Amino acid sequence: MAEKRDIKSLTIEELKEELVSKGEKSFRAVQMYSWMHEKMARSFGEMTNLSKDFREKCKEWYTYTALSPVQMQESRIDGTKKFLFALGDGNVVESVWMKYKHGNSVCISSQVGCRMGCGFCASGIGGLVRNLTPSEMLDQVYAITILTGERVSNVVVMGTGEPLDNYENLLTFLRILTDENGLHISQRSVTVSTCGLVPQIERLAEEKLQITLALSLHAATDEKRKKLMPIASRYSIEELMRACAYYFEQTGRRITFEYSMVRGVNDSLQDAENLSRLAGRLRCHVNLIPVNPIRERSYVQSDRDSILAFKNTLEKNKINVTIRREMGRDIDGACGQLRRRNMEGGQYAESIFHN
Ligand code: SAH
Repeated sequence: MAEKRDIKSLTIEELKEELVSKGEKSFRAVQMYSWMHEKMARSFGEMTNLSKDFREKCKEWYTYTALSPVQMQESRIDGTKKFLFALGDGNVVESVWMKYKHGNSVCISSQVGCRMGCGFCASGIGGLVRNLTPSEMLDQVYAITILTGERVSNVVVMGTGEPLDNYENLLTFLRILTDENGLHISQRSVTVSTCGLVPQIERLAEEKLQITLALSLHAATDEKRKKLMPIASRYSIEELMRACAYYFEQTGRRITFEYSMVRGVNDSLQDAENLSRLAGRLRCHVNLIPVNPIRERSYVQSDRDSILAFKNTLEKNKINVTIRREMGRDIDGACGQLRRRNMEGGQYAESIFHN
């Protein structure tokens, strides 16, 4: 028997084609799409304006992705919530909900594990398990909206995984997420963060979406970057700068450079001068992130004074810079940490969701 199609991963055009091929009218697809992506239904059972008979047939024909939350941690400091979700095959992914003055932001995972192996990151320690489907990325946003009871206005693809290493699924996810027939998150409120896969950055530029591209730079020379990130041996900073300039040229969107500050590794004033020279070539914004120490590695966070001096140097050089506010410090803040703790524990806690 052919594998069942994952219905929540279909764009509205694909869904129309699919249902028409089953002898249904195309307006059924519009109704169903709205149930899935606007009303965020958890199952076919909820789609009450579709006949019971049709809903039963859909259960036979398709898989319906709805993640089960297995754990939630809430920060007592800033209200940040970190969720661990179980996927249909038993793998788990984590997502984070953050409350800001300008609205609620969700940080989602794009893969189970990651194969990029950055030295300071907990997500890559066990390697890549598999890519997430578009529906599994979407449902992190939907499930969190339902669980918090609050609208999500920003989505950042900065959780576990390298989104551009799962390019096709990422693109479908972005199209459905920002579609006016779905949740209709504005493209400008979506950020995709990459460790710097040059060909995919160029491809993304040509899609001409209005999303923000964040580049995880973390070092301003190839030599230093190679010590932190294996991908730096594949693409040079020069190639990355050209790809970022192309992204700006194609989309008009300013690039964000992420720079995680590690004591004694990339936080000297010379590093700040080198970074200023790079950043000065582009329309960009630099985001300084005090590295979040992970148990498995010995990287230490830069101290407050070094971070401030680093920021001052950038400002003196007229670079647009902010220090990222640390959210959820008390709840395994850094990427992949909650999932790892959970794996260490062997089993995950009982579902907190009432299915
Ligand atoms: N693979 C993508 C997105 C996931 S990581 C990327 O590399 O951009 C999101 C951001 O968090 C990246 O900038 C990543 O380098 C950074 N990061 C990962 N672990 C971190 C840690 N322990 N402390 C601070 N930043 C970290």
